[in-house]
Amino acid sequence: MNSYDVAVIGSGPGGYVAAIRCAQLGMKTAIIEKYATLGGTCLNVGCIPSKALLDSSHHYEDAIKHFEAHGIDIPGEIKVNLEKMIARKQSVVDQTIGGVDYLMKKNNIDVYQGLGSFKDATHITISGEETTEIEAKNTIIATGSKPASLPFIDLDKERVITSTEALKLKEIPKHLIVIGGGVIGLELGQVYKRLGAEVSVIEYADRIVPTMDAGVSKELNKVLKKQKFKINASHKVKSVERVGDEVIVKADNKKGEEVEFKGDYCLVSVGRRPYTDGLNAEAAGVKIDERGRVEVNDHLQTSASNIYAIGDVVKGAMLAHKAEEEGVFVAETLAGQKPHIDYNLIPGVVYTWPEVAAVGKTEEQLKEAGIAYKTGQFPMRALGRSRASMDIDGFVKVLADKTTDEILGVHMVGARAADMIAEAVVAMEYRASAEDVSRMSHAHPTFTEAIKEAALAATDDRALHA
Ligand code: FAD
Repeated sequence: MNSYDVAVIGSGPGGYVAAIRCAQLGMKTAIIEKYATLGGTCLNVGCIPSKALLDSSHHYEDAIKHFEAHGIDIPGEIKVNLEKMIARKQSVVDQTIGGVDYLMKKNNIDVYQGLGSFKDATHITISGEETTEIEAKNTIIATGSKPASLPFIDLDKERVITSTEALKLKEIPKHLIVIGGGVIGLELGQVYKRLGAEVSVIEYADRIVPTMDAGVSKELNKVLKKQKFKINASHKVKSVERVGDEVIVKADNKKGEEVEFKGDYCLVSVGRRPYTDGLNAEAAGVKIDERGRVEVNDHLQTSASNIYAIGDVVKGAMLAHKAEEEGVFVAETLAGQKPHIDYNLIPGVVYTWPEVAAVGKTEEQLKEAGIAYKTGQFPMRALGRSRASMDIDGFVKVLADKTTDEILGVHMVGARAADMIAEAVVAMEYRASAEDVSRMSHAHPTFTEAIKEAALAATDDRALHA
């Protein structure tokens, strides 16, 4: 039987990064993955394929809607070749998976393909083409998550689909009904909206992206409405029925009146649930909490002292970069180091266009905590860079402590917000004040000037261009 210092179960961004860091630190490491390809949700059916389709559909939308204004005439009809678009997405996924295979080899990590189940706290049975057993001093559970649904929905995966099927449709929906106005629903909704579908979003909460800052949510709502999304907040879905090629969704609106939506596809994007099926956690003494998550302490250690858990399968934001940080954290803990993660500074991004990005506290959270704060907000439309590319929607908002001027939260909607938020993360990691950021030179013309201007506005209402 092969013996390891560390076995990692699950090869998503949490698991494979944990394995690399363990190997870097000199531990003999194995990784177990039940699917044929490494990379987990993120690389196979999550972050990467969704961004590939967002990029392709963005190019198409630019070609049909924006090229003309830039003085580019395209003779003839511009058409979508969905099959090719999906094939390109798959080749991006394949290349990325190939990269993870390479990294496993480079770091001498043994890869086992099959379902990993605990026999006890130090032995794992792997059921793949053959059944193997390995011994591991320590194990890191990184089994991730699966799409959640509502109890009354029959996900037939043809017309009533999850994000996984939405990434490989064979036709462009005429009318896509999206249940859930969170990140995944809006991103995939925007892909098909750009390709020509009518898109209706049904959201239970009173606003889309309800966990983000309300100002950001309002701005995104305004922009998506301008893009002809039909957004129905405060709607409680009661039934989803497939009749032939039609899907009928019934929901109660705010007033309690029944509203009916008819479409040809319905994307159910109501969140994700932690995944521990087949893991046999009990055999190792690993507790699962009432929400199906692996229970961990502040060191990400489970109720079995030699077993840790990271990523979507534990509490906290379901994000690839959060899973990665936790993978590194556990590897370094096992090596006797004292790593640290500031969960307040894990950025959140929505890759619609304009993009939405945030880090730190929202205004709602600051109010609830009774923290006195000041706000500096700067509109993207006031930037030369935004006007040059005609990306004028959105704003950057800096929230700073009223007394100390320390930045407590940065929220933005705008072109390239996903990349710009890194500046705010760095500033906040170093506990910068709004004035610190406002006094740093930002290249002109760039979208990042909006961060400087918002910081100036927060400092003493000193924005220069608004
Ligand atoms: P996962 O990536 O879910 O990987 C878990 C792996 O474990 C899987 O491969 C699974 O097969 C394997 N496994 C499970 N049980 C066993 C077992 N018993 N034995 C062996 N193997 C097992 N996040 C972002 O940060 N940015 C984004 O842009 C983004 N976009 C997304 C878009 C979509 C459409 C979706 C669905 C998700 C997106 N996410 C995004 C979320 C992101 O994919 C997850 O947060 C991330 O993948 C979690 O990583 P993980 O390592 O915890 O688990």
